[in-house]
Amino acid sequence: MGRNHHMYDKLTEITSEKNVMVEEHLRNHTYTRLGGKADFLVTPETYEEVQAIVKLAKQEKIAFTLLGNGSNLIVKDGGIRGIVMNLKKLHSIWREDDKIIAQSGARIIDASQHALKESLHGLEFACGIPGSVGGALYMNAGAYGGEIKDVLESTKVITREGELLLLPAADLDLHYRTSNIPEKGYIVLEATFSLRKGNAEEIKAVMDDLTFKRESKQPLEYPSCGSVFKRPPGYFAGKLIQDSDLQGKQIGGAQVSTKHAGFIVNKDNATATEYIELIRFVQSTVKEKFGVNLEREVRIIGEDPIE
Ligand SMILES: Cc1cc2nc3c(=O)[nH]c(=O)nc-3n(C[C@H](O)[C@H](O)[C@H](O)COP(=O)(O)OP(=O)(O)OC[C@H]3O[C@@H](n4cnc5c(N)ncnc54)[C@H](O)[C@@H]3O)c2cc1C
Repeated sequence: MGRNHHMYDKLTEITSEKNVMVEEHLRNHTYTRLGGKADFLVTPETYEEVQAIVKLAKQEKIAFTLLGNGSNLIVKDGGIRGIVMNLKKLHSIWREDDKIIAQSGARIIDASQHALKESLHGLEFACGIPGSVGGALYMNAGAYGGEIKDVLESTKVITREGELLLLPAADLDLHYRTSNIPEKGYIVLEATFSLRKGNAEEIKAVMDDLTFKRESKQPLEYPSCGSVFKRPPGYFAGKLIQDSDLQGKQIGGAQVSTKHAGFIVNKDNATATEYIELIRFVQSTVKEKFGVNLEREVRIIGEDPIE
């Protein structure tokens, strides 16, 4: 407890008390509504505070985890030790020339809406992706033929040493649902999207169409992490799962969605353990039936519960 008091004091020297939560349930901060507690959940309000927290974690050799909007993560039932940092209070979005600049805690949906408001074309694909700007860069998020790689010009990041860098998009090595952000340990602070002048009505029509497609196909009425698996080369994950007769398969409160086989929903107060068990069951069944490895798109983090 002594060390935790010490950390609390150090964190509240950096940012105000309201930005430091102790023993916070992470199910309140993830789309799946799963997961144990974080020792500390910190929500800094300035880049200087982010920098100071990163440096503190390094000095004190305390574990440090970044949480975006929690829409592509499963936090295990044992929670996360050390500091979990969420940048949701850094959420400004503005226009400069034909660019949209967004802080990493802004929702990518809001960046897409801002581009519409400014009649700028290029971010329509992101209008229904429920992640933060930082999480979208990390994953090179994409939908309906568009992806972050197509529009990202540059990004401002902090390294795990606390150094501030301005990087061109090419330095992030963006590919299908990956980047080098995990390997480099970058903390994204800001993204500049290079867009083209367009017609607001046409941009809105595209966004409305994508929203209709999403709402009619995805089980948005239940908590989930979106598509659990990446698209395996030459196949569709959802179709393989459907053809394995897995739709509706349930372990505890977790269920393979009956609406979209690529989703696993938290139907009835599932635990993370049940959810993860169901993911593994789907992977092994599809492998057995079709010889295809389903690679997870969703990240699993945190610790197993103590028995
Ligand atoms: C209903 C639903 C639909 C979805 N549809 C799509 C879709 O169409 N296309 C798609 O690509 N994805 C989709 N997703 C998945 C998800 O929204 C994206 O992957 C999104 O980019 C994740 O962002 P996040 O902020 O929620 O990240 P989180 O889930 O919080 O975190 C994911 C990873 O990003 C890292 N991260 C977060 N913020 C930062 C930062 N500032 N700097 C560095 N690393 C950071 C975290 O450490 C973590 O490792 C969907 C999810 C749901 C629930």
